[in-house]
Amino acid sequence: MSEQYDVIVIGAGIIGACVGLELARQGRKVLNIDKLSGAGFGSTSGSCAIIRLHYSTPDGVAMAREGYYYWLDWARYLGFQDPTGMVKYINTGCLVMKTEKNHFLKNVMAALDELHVCYEELTPEEIRQRFPMVDTRQYGPPTLPSDERFGHPTGDQVKGALYIPESGLISDPKQSVHNVQAAAEHIGVTFRFNAEVADILKKDGRCAGVALRNGTQIQAPVVINVAGPHSYQINEMAGVLDGMNIKTRPLKQEVCHVPAPEGVDYNTMGTIISDSDIGCYSRPEIGNHVLIGSEDPECDTLEYVDDPDGYNRNFTDQWATQVMREAQRLKDLPIPGAGRSQGLVDLYDASDDWIPIYDKSDLPGFYMAVGTSGNQYKNAPVVGVLMAELVKACESGHDHDRDPVRFTMHYTRRECNIGFYSRLREINPDSSFSVIG
Ligand SMILES: Cc1cc2nc3c(=O)[nH]c(=O)nc-3n(C[C@H](O)[C@H](O)[C@H](O)COP(=O)(O)OP(=O)(O)OC[C@H]3O[C@@H](n4cnc5c(N)ncnc54)[C@H](O)[C@@H]3O)c2cc1C
Repeated sequence: MSEQYDVIVIGAGIIGACVGLELARQGRKVLNIDKLSGAGFGSTSGSCAIIRLHYSTPDGVAMAREGYYYWLDWARYLGFQDPTGMVKYINTGCLVMKTEKNHFLKNVMAALDELHVCYEELTPEEIRQRFPMVDTRQYGPPTLPSDERFGHPTGDQVKGALYIPESGLISDPKQSVHNVQAAAEHIGVTFRFNAEVADILKKDGRCAGVALRNGTQIQAPVVINVAGPHSYQINEMAGVLDGMNIKTRPLKQEVCHVPAPEGVDYNTMGTIISDSDIGCYSRPEIGNHVLIGSEDPECDTLEYVDDPDGYNRNFTDQWATQVMREAQRLKDLPIPGAGRSQGLVDLYDASDDWIPIYDKSDLPGFYMAVGTSGNQYKNAPVVGVLMAELVKACESGHDHDRDPVRFTMHYTRRECNIGFYSRLREINPDSSFSVIG
């Protein structure tokens, strides 16, 4: 006799694990299945794990604000102590540069105000006082190193910045998934690794389970696609792509780790910097290093990959470009020579408007939490609650496409309209169309 579950969650990354945990809390028999050998071994392991509150839309800020409290209250949220060690939230603060690209943060400040998030507006002089290692000259809009303008200031000063003190990072993203796995197993969730889903089973016009690459079939009336950069493959198996207005694609990213400027204790004095003037974000990294990621400026060619299992995992010229861009902002940042590149290469599951899809599909019983676009690690615990609410409502007969499901978020007491994340939405024009979301 084949196995039977109430819900199968495809993927055991941070979002898949949180979705499994919340569905089990509703009393469902849950299987989290992953083709890799452990939880969080997919794109979550490459995450920069930045917990920040600035997003381009009020819904984006609201979700991040809610998620922030889950990380602060991590052990109580999980209700279980992982014997292999619990991760920690490390507060660093976040400096966000005002640029034309982000409309000098007008909408962001309005959204932060609405959510009662504290911030300070800093002039260039105040930025220099607070962060002496920061060069406040304007360099943007970002260009490529081949452009003669590269590395030369385009103005005396940036327009200023916001400093948001409640921002930071999680000490170890992969271990954070292990924490969720341990809590989920404690209440009965089954995790199965080294098991690749090769097909979605269907019966009587609805989803009926999954078939594995080795031929095993597992039955469940509800299947949730949380496959990260592989999400489009699972949606293809389910045959639901035609019923989606917003699509997802794997996008290659390079993250650089370089030593901090000499004499600067960056783990103590550094902060997260979100900087569309130079097209980079950065944060302190262990070992007195600076971690640098891209904010995907318009001059860069985005590298979408056809095969998330077979792409070039080596650093390219993009690595040096990002470090040189950051060296415009951080005085005396060392630029390691050829062969000394450190960091990582991984994939985003990017959606057309860089806002995720948390939704049902046209196949009854088949759901998705996909298109997380490099910016949803911080929201994973909230997404768990959201997907559990969505499944509960839809499986009770609610027509979510016509009348979107809403729920009250636990900490902020704000209403979350799940319709914001619909697969049927038009492209959201308020998005930054970058990792900022
Ligand atoms: C370089 C980088 C930096 C980032 N930085 C940040 C940040 O600072 N802050 C932030 O909030 N977010 C950040 N993100 C985004 C965040 O990490 C992701 O949104 C989040 O980790 C996605 O989690 P997930 O569970 O959806 O996907 P994943 O962790 O990718 O998990 C999906 C799982 O599905 C499994 N799978 C796929 N196909 C199959 C199949 N056919 N059968 C079985 N299993 C399958 C995979 O093996 C994988 O383990 C970053 C992402 C990257 C790549």
